[in-house]
Amino acid sequence: MAQETKNSVLIIGGGLLGLSIAYEFSRNNFKVLVLSKNRNESAGFVAAGMLATHAEGLEDELLKFGQESQNLIPKWIQSIEQDSNIKCGLKKCGIVVPFKNKEDLEEFPTYKYGKYLNHKDLQTEINGMNSIWKHGLLFEQDGQIDNRRKLMRALERACSLNGVEFQEGSEVEDLTFEKKQNYRCNSFMCHWGNKKN
Ligand SMILES: Cc1cc2nc3c(=O)[nH]c(=O)nc-3n(C[C@H](O)[C@H](O)[C@H](O)COP(=O)(O)OP(=O)(O)OC[C@H]3O[C@@H](n4cnc5c(N)ncnc54)[C@H](O)[C@@H]3O)c2cc1C
Repeated sequence: MAQETKNSVLIIGGGLLGLSIAYEFSRNNFKVLVLSKNRNESAGFVAAGMLATHAEGLEDELLKFGQESQNLIPKWIQSIEQDSNIKCGLKKCGIVVPFKNKEDLEEFPTYKYGKYLNHKDLQTEINGMNSIWKHGLLFEQDGQIDNRRKLMRALERACSLNGVEFQEGSEVEDLTFEKKQNYRCNSFMCHWGNKKN
């Protein structure tokens, strides 16, 4: 960063998470630079957008973390929508998980959070469902967001309007940590998805 200040942040990776972090810093008056190798390869442009803490059967601390995060989403999305003027298609529509037998259903980690569906209810919820699926759990707390067409673009626009600078086509090859902490910016965050090594 050429003119780093106390409130400068460098973010590596401009996918859904890099953009989300950039947005949060920018609306708190940080000067943000996002280095991104290739925005088109970001998973946010292809992901299904399920907000599925319960339907994914998370457990223990991860479940708690997912539940707390999911509770924060409506307010966070409202802020992005206001700043970008793009609706993100957030729906608290619930998600159904089907089961072939009752034992599997009762062993599902988030069983107690779901509403039981018998075969007929399941067919009503999901028209044309294969008859091998006899039972279901409806997780009314879960939902959906339109990340492919809306959230990614809304975040990009909100970031740009908040002054975030993007350097698209910049691949970070290495990070060097020096004992003197002689960084060229005051803080940095890596958000380049799954990276080996
Ligand atoms: C098919 C599919 C369906 C999914 N469905 C769901 C779902 O329904 N619900 C859900 O919650 N999640 C879902 N996910 C997961 C979710 O989409 C991802 O967890 C999330 O989008 C990851 O975002 P990210 O920013 O961490 O990483 P990425 O989207 O991978 O973005 C990383 C960015 O970093 C850049 N980059 C990488 N290396 C470098 C480098 N060296 N220097 C600079 N930039 C770099 C890349 O170009 C990219 O733009 C799904 C994922 C996929 C693939």
